[in-house]
Amino acid sequence: MRTNESLANLLREERRFNPPAELAGTANITAEAYEKARADRLGFWAEQGRRLSWQTEPTQTLDWSNPPFAKWFADGRLNVAYNCVDRHVEAGLGDRVALHFEGEPGDARPVTYAQLKDEVCQAANALTELGITAGDRVAIYLPMIPEAVVAMLACARIGAAHSVVFGGFSADALATRIEDAGAKLVITADGGYRRGKPTALKPAVDEALTRPGTDSVLHQLVVRRTGQETAWQDGRDLWWHEVVGRQPVEHEPEAFEAEHPLFILYTSGTTGKPKGILHTSGGYLTQTSFTHHTVFDLKPESDVYWCTADIGWVTGHSYIVYGPLSNGATQVIYEGTPDTPHQGRFWEIVQKYQVSILYTAPTAIRTFMKWGDDIPAKFDLSSLRILGSVGEPINPEAWVWYQRHIGGGRCPVVDTWWQTETGAIMISPLPGVTTTKPGSAQTPLPGIAATVVDDEAREVPDGAGGYLVLTEPWPSMLRTVWGDDQRFLDTYWSRFPGQYFAGDGAKKDDDGDIWLLGRVDDVMLVSGHNISTAEVESALVSHPKVAEAAVVGATDATTGQAIVTFVILRNNAEDDGDELIGELRDHVARTLGPIAKPKRILTVAELPKTRSGKIMRRLLRDVAEKRELGDVTTLTDSTVMDLIQSTLPSASAED
Ligand code: ATP
Ligand code: MG
Repeated sequence: MRTNESLANLLREERRFNPPAELAGTANITAEAYEKARADRLGFWAEQGRRLSWQTEPTQTLDWSNPPFAKWFADGRLNVAYNCVDRHVEAGLGDRVALHFEGEPGDARPVTYAQLKDEVCQAANALTELGITAGDRVAIYLPMIPEAVVAMLACARIGAAHSVVFGGFSADALATRIEDAGAKLVITADGGYRRGKPTALKPAVDEALTRPGTDSVLHQLVVRRTGQETAWQDGRDLWWHEVVGRQPVEHEPEAFEAEHPLFILYTSGTTGKPKGILHTSGGYLTQTSFTHHTVFDLKPESDVYWCTADIGWVTGHSYIVYGPLSNGATQVIYEGTPDTPHQGRFWEIVQKYQVSILYTAPTAIRTFMKWGDDIPAKFDLSSLRILGSVGEPINPEAWVWYQRHIGGGRCPVVDTWWQTETGAIMISPLPGVTTTKPGSAQTPLPGIAATVVDDEAREVPDGAGGYLVLTEPWPSMLRTVWGDDQRFLDTYWSRFPGQYFAGDGAKKDDDGDIWLLGRVDDVMLVSGHNISTAEVESALVSHPKVAEAAVVGATDATTGQAIVTFVILRNNAEDDGDELIGELRDHVARTLGPIAKPKRILTVAELPKTRSGKIMRRLLRDVAEKRELGDVTTLTDSTVMDLIQSTLPSASAED
């Protein structure tokens, strides 16, 4: 990675935020937890495991006799859905709202824990009637509606593994995932609402099921959401409201082994072909429950929590379904986009439900910055007390904007680093404990062992950069790549033997705090210097005219790689062409040093992103190097690439 100049530059702004005294005084976790976990890591996790209700308590915490294939709580038995629903009802909390559903058109429906229990039981009975048994796989392809949560929990209840496929993916992407998992059932909907209109979903399933390799699917169970015309194949296609609706609301949850598969989830494909990540039950639920309780300081009796992720992304799995529901949280789920029908929709929702904990992504935050401070300012956001960020490195500029304009300067921001593979948050500040630094995820959570190493797997000293690794197994770790143990070993455990390699670059500052620098594939080598794309992006976004930036290294005859950047301007910024581009290049050179001066800057209207909001730099690299585009199946909107390619020659500025 690059030397410390650039980090020093970020730190020069020296902004530090202490936890608010009131929060620190009542926080769900204190600084002692770090000590405790260091002294006895497995004892610490055994204690966290007791957050759950087990039918058979585990006596063994970790079996690491065949690394890297871990078994956590192996002799314990539990039912994950029981932990997320029934036990709260049994504790007298049946009337508590579990989900405040907000549809994009403005329809709203609260679902209490008692109602959720009834619906999950009905759906579990329906799945059983359709011949689904423990160990089977079920594909879920739904919009953000309560039935998505119900479907996932119903699978968990009967021991079937779900594979949620994001509703915006194409028929092809769905077909390959159905085939890879051998799904027996697809749960879908006629459609969902996006950008102000109904968008059909079922036709994509119909098309996927014409592809070879998908004949494992016996039925489609279809939720009626939009009421739009839908093709129908009698015998195969079944309405959810008919089949689920007529089931009894009683269902006895069976306890499964802690290592029983819970779900398969395919990674977002920013670095290559998606991998089917397998997660299991007891360890996964322990860590999602623990992290949701501590990182968001959840007080289930009073907080209203809102995670804006889609259920098709791991954040939706861990921090909409399993973490919050196992903790008895009340949360908002929202179906649509942030700008429908207006750019203040999110803040209107925060105001309406008195949201107190908000968890979103840097890409969304930068979009809100672009739309302007005046939009959130129109709403009452005083209910908020904690803000979270996930998905990409959050640049200090966006962090500070979030803290100030959304958090009113009161709310701690927790920048949470984790991956589909880690299952739960791994590195993050604790809101009542940590003095936060804008742009840094800072500290591995208690019980988590993470560090930064060099090429030879040696831990780097404070102030230096390298590769982020996890040095000890953790409860919610992936167990394998579905059907491909070799790929699991090769991808994650071969680069640094005995350590999990996350694929991300990072550095430690002088206090030993961790700063994520993006994927190592994204690190550029310019005239012999390692420069991280994230640092150049951060420098660009710190310019008042820039809302978003994506940076790639393109092969260059003289410098090895040349820095090519794509920028989106803020709404109020004027694009005066070459003058602006010159100004931005100088700004980067001033911030990071002349070596980091971009060779080309292109202004664009949109950037290619995955549905989870991540920029697909590999596609921009293809554009910059004038290659044919790689796999675009996980892209939100493939027309974005056409647009970028068409503007390429005219908008560039060369040395
Ligand atoms: P693929 O592995 O197929 O390329 P992906 O890595 O984008 O897909 P996810 O598992 O959803 O899919 O994303 C995890 C990655 O997101 C991390 O490895 C890291 O690069 C990035 N990330 C997530 N949270 C943070 C954060 N707080 N700070 C920095 N980077 C983050
Ligand atoms: Mg990844």
